[in-house]
Amino acid sequence: MRRKLLCLAILIVGLAPICSVGLQAQTVTQPKEVAVTIDDLPLNGPQFDAGRLRAMTDKILAAVNKHQIPVVGFVNESLLHVSGETEARIMILKAWSDGGVELGNHTFSHLGLKDAPLNEYQDDFLRGEVVTRWLLKQKGQRIRYFRHPFLQMGPTREIEQSFESFIAERGYKIAPVTVDVMDWMILSAYAGARTQGDSEMMKRVSEEYLKFAERKFEFCEQAANDLFGHPIKHILLLHANELTADNLDGLAAMLKNKGYRFITLEQALKDPVYQAPDKYLASSDWLGHWAFSKGKKLAPPMPPDFIRKPYPDNQKKATPAPGSEQAQALGPDKWPDYASADYDILPNITYSVANNTELKLDLYLPKNRSAPNPTLMLFHGGGWVDGQKERNVFQLLPYLSLGWAVINVEYRLARNTPAPAAVEDCRCALRWVTYHAKEYSLDTSKIVLTGTSAGGHLSLITGMLPAQSVFDRQCPTDSGTRWREGTEPKTNVAAIINWYGITDVAELIDGPNAKHYAMEWFGSMSNREELARQLSPISYVRAGLPPILTIHGDQDDIVPYNQAVRLHAALDKAGAPNQLVTLRGRKHGGFNRQDLVNSYAVIREFLRKHNLLNAEQR
Ligand SMILES: [Zn+2]
Repeated sequence: MRRKLLCLAILIVGLAPICSVGLQAQTVTQPKEVAVTIDDLPLNGPQFDAGRLRAMTDKILAAVNKHQIPVVGFVNESLLHVSGETEARIMILKAWSDGGVELGNHTFSHLGLKDAPLNEYQDDFLRGEVVTRWLLKQKGQRIRYFRHPFLQMGPTREIEQSFESFIAERGYKIAPVTVDVMDWMILSAYAGARTQGDSEMMKRVSEEYLKFAERKFEFCEQAANDLFGHPIKHILLLHANELTADNLDGLAAMLKNKGYRFITLEQALKDPVYQAPDKYLASSDWLGHWAFSKGKKLAPPMPPDFIRKPYPDNQKKATPAPGSEQAQALGPDKWPDYASADYDILPNITYSVANNTELKLDLYLPKNRSAPNPTLMLFHGGGWVDGQKERNVFQLLPYLSLGWAVINVEYRLARNTPAPAAVEDCRCALRWVTYHAKEYSLDTSKIVLTGTSAGGHLSLITGMLPAQSVFDRQCPTDSGTRWREGTEPKTNVAAIINWYGITDVAELIDGPNAKHYAMEWFGSMSNREELARQLSPISYVRAGLPPILTIHGDQDDIVPYNQAVRLHAALDKAGAPNQLVTLRGRKHGGFNRQDLVNSYAVIREFLRKHNLLNAEQR
């Protein structure tokens, strides 16, 4: 007892570490410690102008200063590139740094690692440090931490490890998370109330937010105790938004009240629990990670219903800043909501069987199927030799946000069966859609095909081949119709959105522009030149084609930009409706946020022009 009292005295004079070591055996609790991190700098959630952003930032920094909170802020540099505001936003980022916040990298465009190829992700990482590095260099500092957007780590341990060694060479460490107080979700209710000038509601949401944060901390403390038998040094995830700005003072006071002291991220990461051996889980939510490793499941609390339930709808209604409509659709932390609240997902439906391979597609169907829905079919990229439909889900989002039915198609790759198998499969998938349109409320007069790279090629060729092409001959027919004549379904494509796809396959299998992926697709077959011509979209240019939109970087070294130019010149000549969008200075994909925002604005306008958007989607 005396020893306890003595220790208490020492604790009060601030020699906690010595004492807590001595006390562990007597199960007296260690001091509670938490490192604070803030994501999506300079602005998480709906975008607004630089003046309001400056006020928001000042308020956060005032609370950081008042409570002496060491903070690491993770930057998405794409958010700096707002027309007319870039300089002001860079100055705001500088204000964070001048206010004592250590800046980290959160990728350029808030890219998720689950759906992006590693090389694109690494490019986005590198683009994401340009301004930050320059700002820090002037102060003799460097960037030390990286936080995965959406807390998505690599889909496999190998991918994650190769990313981590890539960034380690550049002096970076990963910043995990243990406590997420879901401000990114609660923000939606808060911003909505603010837009409506409903200060009562803003107050109520703030109160609920602080209550929820307290409950979440209690839950995480308990979970850590259950997992390790002792408290751990926590890492809190917040976001740079007005909910944080208006409540950080209250949040810090609540935490101090609960016995927390604020530590740096560096100090937190010294806790040996962060080295705990684990089974791999593709998430930077470390509590979830540890629980998974120990075969346990956590059931964290959720914000109250009046905040949580309207969240998905609010996301869609949110008034975007001018010109950033698609940025909202693609923006931070919104992607999980389209699918779960408003969609039925029917994964891995077999649409055909070929070469002993069941070919699958995923259906994303709007819950509201009272009338047939416009339907997007997506073919993934990967040079016909690589890729998988699951890694492409990111590209579905803009269409899910329009409320369309979306179909994500897999097809045979070269290592299973060489050309023309992929084309046959995509044609069969289109026929399957036609056969099953009624069953799933798909509008066969509004089928749009899209894909990137080889997927761009497959959308072009699938939409451009004439009816009853030889490549359809292996497609399954409707039940029993195989034995009769005249049962060809009338497949109909309403538009094609081609992201830097191959338009002239023959050019890529031999000669100066030959590419290995194209050679691989044809292998050693003897008639490959003739077949390549038959598989080239440019061979089928004629009047009466569906409208074709192409988006292509003029520095593309994988699919030559000139292929897009030639296709569109031919389409013009034939009088076929078309549009070519050239992304200056861009290579093969890996486009930045602004490129995507601009491209999707063009896509929307293109769909509108061709009467493919419903009235409420315009
Ligand atoms: Zn983020």
